Amino acid sequence: MLTFDTPLSQIASIKAQTLGKLERLGIFTVRDMLYHFPHRYEDYSAIRPIASLVPDEKYTIEGTVANINAGRTWKKKMFLTEATIEDKSGRIRLIWFNQRFVAQTLKSGMVIRASGKVTRDRAGLVMQSPAFERSERDATHTGRLVPIYPETAGLTSKFFRWQLTGIFQKLSEFPDPVPEDILERLHLPSLKHALFYIHFPKNEKPSLLARKRFAFDEMFFVQLKALQMKALFETAKAESIPTDEAALGHFIGTLPFALTAAQRKASTEILKDMGKARPMNRLLNGDVGSGKTIVAALAAFACAERGLQTALLAPTEVLARQHFENLSQVFAHTEHHVALLTGSYRILDGKTVTRPTFLKALSAGIPKIIVGTHALLQADVAFDHLALIVVDEQHRFGVAQRAKLQEASFGSLDATPASVPHFLTMTATPIPRTLTLAFFGNLDLSLLDELPKNRKPIITEIAATDPEREKIYSFVRSEVARGRQAFVIFPLVEESLALKEVKAAVAEHKHLAETVFPHLSIGLLHGRMKAKEKEEVMRDFKEKKYDILVATAVVEVGIDVPNASIILIEEAERFGLAQLHQFRGRVGRAEHQSYCFLIPGKPSGENNERLKVLAKTNSGFAIAEADLSFRGPGAFFGTRQSGMPDIAMENLTNLKLITIAHQEAELILSEDPGLKRHPLLISALQKFEEQIHLE
Ligand code: ADP
Ligand code: MG
Repeated sequence: MLTFDTPLSQIASIKAQTLGKLERLGIFTVRDMLYHFPHRYEDYSAIRPIASLVPDEKYTIEGTVANINAGRTWKKKMFLTEATIEDKSGRIRLIWFNQRFVAQTLKSGMVIRASGKVTRDRAGLVMQSPAFERSERDATHTGRLVPIYPETAGLTSKFFRWQLTGIFQKLSEFPDPVPEDILERLHLPSLKHALFYIHFPKNEKPSLLARKRFAFDEMFFVQLKALQMKALFETAKAESIPTDEAALGHFIGTLPFALTAAQRKASTEILKDMGKARPMNRLLNGDVGSGKTIVAALAAFACAERGLQTALLAPTEVLARQHFENLSQVFAHTEHHVALLTGSYRILDGKTVTRPTFLKALSAGIPKIIVGTHALLQADVAFDHLALIVVDEQHRFGVAQRAKLQEASFGSLDATPASVPHFLTMTATPIPRTLTLAFFGNLDLSLLDELPKNRKPIITEIAATDPEREKIYSFVRSEVARGRQAFVIFPLVEESLALKEVKAAVAEHKHLAETVFPHLSIGLLHGRMKAKEKEEVMRDFKEKKYDILVATAVVEVGIDVPNASIILIEEAERFGLAQLHQFRGRVGRAEHQSYCFLIPGKPSGENNERLKVLAKTNSGFAIAEADLSFRGPGAFFGTRQSGMPDIAMENLTNLKLITIAHQEAELILSEDPGLKRHPLLISALQKFEEQIHLE
């Protein structure tokens, strides 16, 4: 008898070798298998008469095997199986390469269904490597909407279809964590039906219904967690940090610029929150270049003045390093030490130290401002008195790291620490309120809706032809002659293709250095370089040792080189608009008139249309909205969120879903705060959390 928790090792038809592959995908139990969703379906539902087939289309046919031949091809390289199938209307050849079992399975006279793509070769129409099964069998691989699974670790869609068919036959119970009354109210299918529909939908309608149900589940769990956090948060205590106005005023006076009104307002809001004995939980949202760092620095200053520590977390080492350098300067006029801890760096008092030395100083409270990456979240990192956590670009951290960040700030859900740090997160991504709710739970919001006065709007142009490119190159030469610098950005390729990306960047660097700008000095920055190398290149660029920096998407967030006035983005249409806006924010960070050139990979196309939005506006909010409407929320966040389930991502913009999930979560918690009457829900939430933590 199977249950959700039955390990797959107990299923006889799964071989040990296959188990290993499944484990690599995180699939251990029947439940895991059921939750391994297809990413799309092929529509093989209509069975077509053979005479009606045309090349380059996919079909399902049904007929009798007329003859069958198998053997090596003339080059002796491949094992070829060829069969002819006939129905009332006609006949067609089916061929398979290197699939010996086909020759063993197919017999003359057998009636089969086959699904696949039809092409034409010298001998006429042929179906290439079709999926097939005997007609007397239920439709699994053919003759229906056929689920296609992400084919990883050498596991085929056929394998999943086969195993899942068996599981659905043998599984008697589908314990549903979501209470029936909720499902009824929302017209959602039971878990059993939803799971079946998502794997084996008859047509599109049930598959959509299933997706809706799972989207609801994800959002419902997220909201339950957020509300539980919020409840806990409301009872939590924090250090009250009153502001010493005089000291703060003096500190602000040492800055090389006057604060913008928006910066002053945000700082006031933050300092007011920190003055309370309840933990602050605030999001500082401001467009690229709006000056968020200094706002965080003021909060850190207030803590340091009281002898308390601040941790500032950045998503990458390059960014952490840059924050460290900026803050070291900002605090140079004070008695407060700034330290840096990442995977590659331990810097204390301007010197690299050993890990034990660093940790000892940290727990003795010597550095007051500690900048770092998630390396700061490791278990052995103990502070003297951590009063404030600042997280830059929080959404760039993985879901698991975000969960850890939350824990670092409120302790785990079941333990209520005596006093928790204040929490400030910063982002340049203009996140609509609804998404804020979905991603971060309940947060207060401060907006930096104003850029420092010295900025001129960036001039953005799209260049699709070679003469236009030439014009840009000569413009770069003239700007460099005036002392400015330029970025050349290369398209981001999926992680698995990172090597290719590096090659492309290296090749571009060579081309620019040798052919286009032989008299200029050109640096190269890419994701595969070691942190130290990256930092060296960045520092050299900042110190004007390079006129031009060729970089992959690593420069996307936060890099600050005020003297750079040009950014040229190759194959721009491959990036999301919000991401392009981030790139563009690398220039225009000082008084120089700055330029952004977008060069599409193809001279025309629908994607190029999108780019016009950037040429039209410099407002991050307007761009984010346009991006959402063009490409959906996955693109909105630039890269796909690790761990954020696809289905939930698809539905993030679905305000209605978020609102409903929120209401249902509120309702159930108001009736049953500890969820004592919903044990299935408690364990589902635990699993949800574990899943998040594993990533
Ligand atoms: P972001 O909000 O994108 O993180 P930063 O904090 O990196 O922006 O600031 C961008 C640049 O603007 C930095 O060089 C910073 O020193 C400068 N800056 C910040 N505030 C002001 C201001 N009020 N006036 C002039 N320059 C400022
Ligand atoms: Mg920043």
